[in-house]
Amino acid sequence: MMNPQTLTRILTALLSLLAFSGCRDSIFTVYPQGDRQASNGRIVSGVKVAIRGKRFGEVPGQVRIGGVRVPIDVTRSGYILWKNREIVIRIPDGLVSGSIQIETADGRIIRGPELLLDQGPRDVDAVYQRHINDYAARNDLDQNWVRWMLDQQPQDYIDNTSSNRDRGLLTFTTQRLERKTITVAYTYYEGRPYRMREPWPVPQAAQELAHMGALKNMMEAAFPGYRFTFFFDADPMTCDLAVQANHPNKNHLFTTYIQPEGDRSGGVVRLIQSTNDGVLIHEIGHYLGLSHHYEERDASDIGEGKRMPPGSRTCRMDRTAGWCTACLAALDIDPDAYQEERVAQAIQILYDHYDR
Ligand SMILES: [Zn+2]
Ligand SMILES: [Zn+2]
Repeated sequence: MMNPQTLTRILTALLSLLAFSGCRDSIFTVYPQGDRQASNGRIVSGVKVAIRGKRFGEVPGQVRIGGVRVPIDVTRSGYILWKNREIVIRIPDGLVSGSIQIETADGRIIRGPELLLDQGPRDVDAVYQRHINDYAARNDLDQNWVRWMLDQQPQDYIDNTSSNRDRGLLTFTTQRLERKTITVAYTYYEGRPYRMREPWPVPQAAQELAHMGALKNMMEAAFPGYRFTFFFDADPMTCDLAVQANHPNKNHLFTTYIQPEGDRSGGVVRLIQSTNDGVLIHEIGHYLGLSHHYEERDASDIGEGKRMPPGSRTCRMDRTAGWCTACLAALDIDPDAYQEERVAQAIQILYDHYDR
């Protein structure tokens, strides 16, 4: 049976899911302010940009460009320039182009167009290097760790990438592009649902909504700071990623391929009924650009904790618990924000329902 805490968590997730699918906020428009605002039609750093739309709320929330939080402008008298129909942001140095996303104080996400910034040649290497150094300082990681993270020596065992630095850089740039907000279209293969051992504690018609809420809880525990929304039976092309559950191919328990199809879909994760759904965390790790720590060619050293940065021994990309600091840094998640216990509990809730 479910304890009341679990029940509350599921109902909360369910409500947020309904809030997400319920009303669509209109896309807004942006207006750079001041004279030296743009070069080649692109906005330069230091300028203020007014974002106009509606339903931003009267209480200030947050604005992100490409996943990076940007400052809201403040008047000399200390008045924060956030109004229901207009927000003024300041473009900080070093910010790269990306989609605008507004997080309202009451928890709504309003997605807007891409803001094109003029930064001269885009130097992702420098941005990543700065990120790694900042991350180390913030989390008491030493220079050995920084050296390991930025090592450019080719490491041919890693799939897709060629060095420790490139492995992290790939994820870092991917997660920036993904704005830390991931929508998932969840469908059953040929419409055949999982057998559930225990129904969710909600009316029959809302069973899959509760299931989606439990998946959301698991993913948000596994990726602190990221926001996931699972849409049951949605068109994969309208979401960032597709999950195809109850897939019959037992030899391929799960497959992720990052293969843009159409506008949005960034791949498909296939799951089978007996899958430990913690696997979904590992697969979405791939979607975010993470590769394995083990020998890619023959998987001969799975779970041995090899090729990890100083101080780390386990990682979901090695099919063990938790994340190593290399994966956390690339995902821009501070180690303190991650609690394995929360993830384990969220996985257990799914376990208790699936008839494996
Ligand atoms: Zn994998
Ligand atoms: Zn790792």
